[in-house]
Amino acid sequence: VFLIELYKSLQGESSFSGFPCVFIRFAGCNLRCSWCDSEYTFTGGKKFTEDEVLVQVRRLSPNGGLVEITGGEPMLQESEVVPLMRHLLDLGYTVLIETSGERPLANVPHQVHKIVDVKCPDSGAADTFRPENLDALTLRDEIKFVISSRRDYEFARDFTRMHDLDNMVASVIFSPAFRKDAGLHALGISHETRSVEHCLLDPRLLAEWILADALNVRLGFQIHKFIWEPSMKGV
Ligand code: SF4
Repeated sequence: VFLIELYKSLQGESSFSGFPCVFIRFAGCNLRCSWCDSEYTFTGGKKFTEDEVLVQVRRLSPNGGLVEITGGEPMLQESEVVPLMRHLLDLGYTVLIETSGERPLANVPHQVHKIVDVKCPDSGAADTFRPENLDALTLRDEIKFVISSRRDYEFARDFTRMHDLDNMVASVIFSPAFRKDAGLHALGISHETRSVEHCLLDPRLLAEWILADALNVRLGFQIHKFIWEPSMKGV
C-alpha cells in the first residue's frame, strides 16, 4: 500500500468521535473538493507491505480498539486495502473506512464501519457519489454531507429524504465545511486559532435549518480542528 502517514490520535468526525484511534492515511485522491483539508495526500506517499502496517498498528494500539482507513481515497488501492481490512478485523480491531463515495464499496467487508461522503454541489465534486453504493450500506455505516451553503444543505436534505437514509445507516451526519485556509493566518488573526469562525457555514444556521425541517440527522464537527490547530497534520 502507498501511505502518507500512520499515527494515533482521536477519531474526529463520526459517531466514534472522541475515541482513540489509529489512522492509516492512504496516498492519492481522484477528486479535488474545494474545501479539501488533505491536499498533502495527492502526491507522494511511501510504500508499505501489509505486514509493516500491521506491526505499526499493533505497536500503537496493542490491545485492540479503533483503526481508521482514510486518505486521500483509500479505495483507489482496493486490491490491497480490502485484505488489509480483513486482517485487521481478524486481529480484533474495530475498523472504520472514510471514503468519498465515488469508488465501488461492494467489496468492503461487512464488519467494517463505512463512513461515506455524498459530495454536495459547492464541494466542486457534485454528482460523484456512486448510486449503487447505497446497496452496500448497512446499519453499521454512516453517511456524511460536508455543507458549505444553503444550496448544499438543501441538496443534503433532499437526498436524505429521497433515499430514507436515516433508516438505512447508523447516522446521517451534516457537517459544516471548514475553510481551507483555517489556521493559516486567516481572518486577519496572527496566530493559529481553534474556533467555529473557521467554518464556511455558521454551525448555528445549520442547526436551525436541521431543526426547522425536523430532520433526523446528526450535526457533526471535526473535533480535531477545535482540539488542535486546524492546519496541523498527524492529528
Ligand atoms: S475526496 Fe477527500 S481527500 Fe479527496 S479531494 Fe475530496 S476531501 Fe480531499
